[in-house]
Amino acid sequence: MASVNANYLKLKGSYLFIEIGRRVAAFQEAHPDASVIRLGIGDVTRPLPPAVTAAMHRAVDEMGEEATFRGYGPERGYAFLAEKIIQHDFAPRGVTLSLDEVFISDGAKTDTANFQELFAPESIVALTDPVYPVYVDSNVMAGRAGDLDASGRYSRLVYLPCTAENNFRPALPDRPVDLIYLCYPNNPTGATITREALKEWVEYAHQTGAVILYDAAYEAYIRDPEIPHSIYEVEGAREVAVEFRSFSKTAGFTGTRCAYTIVPREVQVTAPDGSRVALNPLWDRRQSTKFNGVPYVVQAGAAAVYTEDGRQQTQAVIDYYMENARIIREGLQSIGLTVYGGVHAPYIWVKSPGALTSWEFFDRLLNEAHVVGTPGAGFGPSGEGYLRLTAFGKREDAEEAVERVRTRLSV
Ligand code: PLP
Repeated sequence: MASVNANYLKLKGSYLFIEIGRRVAAFQEAHPDASVIRLGIGDVTRPLPPAVTAAMHRAVDEMGEEATFRGYGPERGYAFLAEKIIQHDFAPRGVTLSLDEVFISDGAKTDTANFQELFAPESIVALTDPVYPVYVDSNVMAGRAGDLDASGRYSRLVYLPCTAENNFRPALPDRPVDLIYLCYPNNPTGATITREALKEWVEYAHQTGAVILYDAAYEAYIRDPEIPHSIYEVEGAREVAVEFRSFSKTAGFTGTRCAYTIVPREVQVTAPDGSRVALNPLWDRRQSTKFNGVPYVVQAGAAAVYTEDGRQQTQAVIDYYMENARIIREGLQSIGLTVYGGVHAPYIWVKSPGALTSWEFFDRLLNEAHVVGTPGAGFGPSGEGYLRLTAFGKREDAEEAVERVRTRLSV
């Protein structure tokens, strides 16, 4: 008789978005004429840049011609895209990468979820709290997280609280850990990390033998030239860090699917016999076994992001969202709310007024202003007392949401 992988039974229900949906549906049923503005989800609204769609059209035509048709591509992605990634995303920041260190994939979600497969099941995992839930759940599925306690924490995970009290900068773990997930600019808090702070993490990893899994899905939103875009801008990171990037939030690829992961050849972990094993060939092996590559048409579209037109158009989209972020951030601040993030990130992390919990604030926002956010508690215990708004909506919705909060919310 088949038995279940019991680790799956340890997953918290996907309560957050189901519960948000339930409350919004109940509200709409009770108030059918109310127009609800959704600033909760992390999906984008601007269409693909014209340079991208033009390249994809050309690629589709190539696929329809015998002379230019392509079947299975390289599992790790086409060199034409990896070359552009290295040349535009890393070389200008003084980071040298070789083609075999770039792994193109169908998403940073996929890669951040799957990369843990390369590590021993008993590895101790540290993650920031609040956190992008995929890091937690993928380790729960792998049996690495232990049991869920009443406070919403898994017994074997090491939580690194990020709150206003520590300026959303996690302290180094107070006990030995093997894997460290860092995400900057951060989802959900919108916090960034300084070069000095990142250096401390890299040094810590060198001292302890830990590996840093660095999620830079939002690096394109950084405005301050002093803030690092890549962990490899820090000396020594090539030996201890893997980095995840995505075209989703930069070029509107959430539905088109393209991302990439950098696995430097130097990153090594320990084998049972004490020898050192490089992660790069292991990830290559894993990807070529379980993944058959991103469609050619999609990679051709992603490569067009790096053309002159593509870069300008992509930047215009990012600027559009960041203007939304400014409108929301400054608007809420002017009403007297305490707001974090939204300067180098498309996320605005709002402190619940008074002693309201995340869900109480969510309800007030929905019922009084007809605006939907995401309760911070859904991203981890330290997210309690906060609410996340995103800048990925339409301009008029950002403006209208602020106006409604100003005129209708009784804070
Ligand atoms: N990493 C973080 C921190 C995210 O917030 C998201 C998406 O919301 C992803 C990764 C997923 O990106 P992708 O669309 O490339 O799977």
